[in-house]
Amino acid sequence: MALIVQKYGGTSVGSVERIQTVAQRIRKTVQQGNKVVVVVSAMGKTTDTLVGLAQEITPNPSRREMDMLLSTGEQVTIALMTMALQEIGQTATSLTGAQVGIVTEAEHSRARILSIKPDRIKHHLDQGEVVVVAGFQGISSRENLEITTLGRGGSDTSAVALAASLKANFCEIYTDVPGILTTDPRLVPSARLMEEITCDEMLELASLGAKVLHPRAVEIARNYGVSLVVRSSWSDAPGTHVISPIPKPRSLEGLELTKAVDGVEFDGEQGKIALLRVPDRPGIAARLFGEIAHQQVDVDLIIQSIHDGNSNDIAFTVVKNVLNKAEAVAEAIAPVLRSTPSNSTEAEVMVETGVAKVSIAGAGMIGRPGIAAKMFKTLAAAKINIEMISTSEVKVSCVVAQKDGDRAISVLCEAFDLQLSSNTAASQTAATAPPVRGVAVDTKQAQIAIRHVKDKPGMAAGIFGVLADNNISVDTIIQSQRCRILAGTPTRDIAFTVAQENAQAACEALKSLSESFEEMIVDEDIAKVSIVGAGMVGQPGVAAKFFTALAKEKINIKMIATSEIKISCVVPQEEGVKALKAVHDAFELAGIETVEVPA
Ligand code: ADP
Ligand code: ASP
Ligand code: MG
Repeated sequence: MALIVQKYGGTSVGSVERIQTVAQRIRKTVQQGNKVVVVVSAMGKTTDTLVGLAQEITPNPSRREMDMLLSTGEQVTIALMTMALQEIGQTATSLTGAQVGIVTEAEHSRARILSIKPDRIKHHLDQGEVVVVAGFQGISSRENLEITTLGRGGSDTSAVALAASLKANFCEIYTDVPGILTTDPRLVPSARLMEEITCDEMLELASLGAKVLHPRAVEIARNYGVSLVVRSSWSDAPGTHVISPIPKPRSLEGLELTKAVDGVEFDGEQGKIALLRVPDRPGIAARLFGEIAHQQVDVDLIIQSIHDGNSNDIAFTVVKNVLNKAEAVAEAIAPVLRSTPSNSTEAEVMVETGVAKVSIAGAGMIGRPGIAAKMFKTLAAAKINIEMISTSEVKVSCVVAQKDGDRAISVLCEAFDLQLSSNTAASQTAATAPPVRGVAVDTKQAQIAIRHVKDKPGMAAGIFGVLADNNISVDTIIQSQRCRILAGTPTRDIAFTVAQENAQAACEALKSLSESFEEMIVDEDIAKVSIVGAGMVGQPGVAAKFFTALAKEKINIKMIATSEIKISCVVPQEEGVKALKAVHDAFELAGIETVEVPA
């Protein structure tokens, strides 16, 4: 007999008929000899409708009242689902988040789960009942008993947290698609179903907006080794397994209160190559990295900064022993990238042999704006200048001078209270994973470029510190290669992306630093297209293929940022979906059948 947690999303319980169909499936699971805990979402678009009602009354509803309002959606479903089960002869009891003791922080609208008291659920299960629990909600503490919600999409997190607390054998997420697909089937109907994906890959995809799983649910599964599968509510097909590494033993107290950063990583043997002032037109990155891949050189970080007039800077790092080869390739290709081959002010190649890359990693940094700022502040306090920054949602990497590498590591380990870790995400499955597992597009971000920031330790810390103080989460951050001397002071450009709704607030907040930079440019019309795959590590040519796919569609790349298992390109917004399709095709991710998504 197994204990199974099954979660059914909004579409799966969107009507009375669908609730009845799901009830049959639950009953069948019980008849096969299993104990079943069911977690449900609000019916269909209920949560959106409730948000709309609130907006009709006020543009700024209090977060407490929003939680009070939104938590009702799930409560409707638990009662109806339980009735449907009882109607077909299955004993069942519905329970709210508070009733099953899902205790959370007192943070309305984005509370993290602290603990779950499984006794009441166990009691009902022992009576042979199915327990139907309201997803997405909890209660703030034993004393003030405030109703909280976990953030949009949070029912997945409720389900995985329950599975961890109950030590369930499986957690099954039932949804309106056959499982996790290579991309969003609403945008690319030929998206293919994956049999499996690692937690690290899924975390990147989920935080890039692959809505199918809440990133926090993936994090809990990884931390507690929950056996997690995503499947269709309408079929018996096996779906997608989300593979977790064998977890370190950990307490169930403070369930979601993991450290924001769980690893500090170091690569002290890198070299950096930059091409300065390459013309800003489609196809340049593709040619450069195509040639580099052709020579079997594997690149690590790639950064393309905001363009300046009509030119961009592209910088990348490679392991030191291939630096000479990479430089030779860059020198050879540079004339081809120029608008006229003799114009040597364009595509100037710059090489730096002694650089080190230091990174902090951890899913806990999603939605916690201060983490990158803390890293930059720590390095600044140690008077270490940051030469390059590239981030993903779950990792921040900085390139510093090699001589500063050891010191950088020791101050970071101390600041984040960690030991130096081996390179986790990459080493987990690099041998077997495909270079690209999935692709995603995010069209809800804005890019902010800050021009001519004084190049001295502490500048990045200042900028991202101010944003963190204003509770603004920053996504992709890059710091440019080119150093410009303005009035005797070296300056660089820093660019980053934020959620569109935060763009104006970010600009307002940054005005307090206007002494330290020249100009701030906001671009809301962007789309961020990303590819994710643990197998891209040590595989030359993945970046080149990505850039070539965009070049073929004549899509200009505004910004490039990478982490070990992800490459992101910022492109014009109106080309986002076209870019997604092109990249999905280029990596041959399409399946034979098209995926239909029910309304
Ligand atoms: P539920 O209500 O079951 O929680 P969601 O709407 O939250 O469902 O998530 C499922 C949806 O996620 C799918 O209908 C699909 O449009 C979208 N989606 C985005 N990216 C992916 C992906 N890579 N794989 C599967 N679905 C995806
Ligand atoms: N009903 C909530 C939402 O729409 C939670 C969920 O469905 O996961 O965001
Ligand atoms: Mg969902």
